[in-house]
Amino acid sequence: MVKETAYYDILGVPPAASSEEIKRAFRRLALKYHPDKNPNAGEKFKQISKAYEVLSDSRKRDLYNRGGESALRDGPCDRSGHHASPMDIFSVFFGGGGSINRSRGDRSGKTVTHYLPVSLEDLYNGATRKLSLQKNVICPKCKGSGARHGGVVQCPKCHGSGMETHILGHMPGMMHSLQTTCSECHGQGEYIRTRDRCRICSGRKVIKEKKILTVHIDKGMKNRHKMIFHREGDQSPGLHPGDVVIVLEQKEHPVFQRRGNDLVMTMEIGLADALCACRQKVQTLDDRTILVTSQPGKVIRPGDIKCIPKEGMPVYRDPFEKGNLIIHFQVKFPDPGWLPVENLKQLQELFPSRPQPNLPEDTEEVTLSNYDPREEHKRQTRKEAYEEDQDRNSYHHPMQCQTS
Ligand SMILES: [Zn+2]
Ligand SMILES: [Zn+2]
Repeated sequence: MVKETAYYDILGVPPAASSEEIKRAFRRLALKYHPDKNPNAGEKFKQISKAYEVLSDSRKRDLYNRGGESALRDGPCDRSGHHASPMDIFSVFFGGGGSINRSRGDRSGKTVTHYLPVSLEDLYNGATRKLSLQKNVICPKCKGSGARHGGVVQCPKCHGSGMETHILGHMPGMMHSLQTTCSECHGQGEYIRTRDRCRICSGRKVIKEKKILTVHIDKGMKNRHKMIFHREGDQSPGLHPGDVVIVLEQKEHPVFQRRGNDLVMTMEIGLADALCACRQKVQTLDDRTILVTSQPGKVIRPGDIKCIPKEGMPVYRDPFEKGNLIIHFQVKFPDPGWLPVENLKQLQELFPSRPQPNLPEDTEEVTLSNYDPREEHKRQTRKEAYEEDQDRNSYHHPMQCQTS
């Protein structure tokens, strides 16, 4: 049996009403007596809000049920008999939406990060990019109040704090209360009557504005280099705008990979170049042509690594210094049959002579075949699987099929 029923009467629900019924009743009455529609019912609206504030909060409702309005005034007294149903916690965590994380202590808007794709050429030569961003700025007409003149009303649910406190009670291992953004005013702490809304921002307090950010890419900047544009994020009344962070994201280059200040490339040369002397053209990132040569008589083997000093990346903030260009060599051998058989002997004579093997009388001559280890592995696996299958069939009793 409840001590008083006044709050229930205001909402027109029985004291045994569920929280859902209370919420529905409040919505219906709030719409009916809302100051937007019913400017003379201000007092009634306040009563409805007060009643709902108490009855929608399981702790306050419990206090009220047991001690009436005076118990609420006396503040949090005996809470031992109180406990919240786990469903309340569920609905607070998952229902209603709104940001739970919004911290009232942090007065800065959030930092926005944009990734700017750049080429390796941009990082080599330096570049300037203009980035067009849409951001919220404080409405110049209403200076961020959202209203035309004094049309701002304090939110009755949160009394202007923008936050709602949900008491979850004594549950082992659970937090006892949880703050969420006020569901009535969405954390604004206030609302504006439709007719009083600013014409420019429609009461939103901010308008969208296009902002051009100029990004200077300096020679030698690294991939993932971060540039911070302080306070260029969205503006919002009462908050410092957050920062905009631009992160350079280097696109892959078809020829060069970057390793610190060095550039790395793979160069394929023909067998003749590898043996005699190579002359290879390279297009640099600043569009010069360089000719890479090796001295005649120097042999380049497959997998050899050589370097050209000062043809790497410029050093950031010291762009006259440059890293190395490191070249990994691959040697392309000629295709089978590239030289007529009658010429092979001539070619062979050019190479250092090799010792002739001493062969016994009964030596058998064998010819090489092609061998692909992957193909061979596949063939082996197929064969083993087949044999295993054969084994299993011979062990299994036919009856066992029924159990699977
Ligand atoms: Zn405005
Ligand atoms: Zn509110």
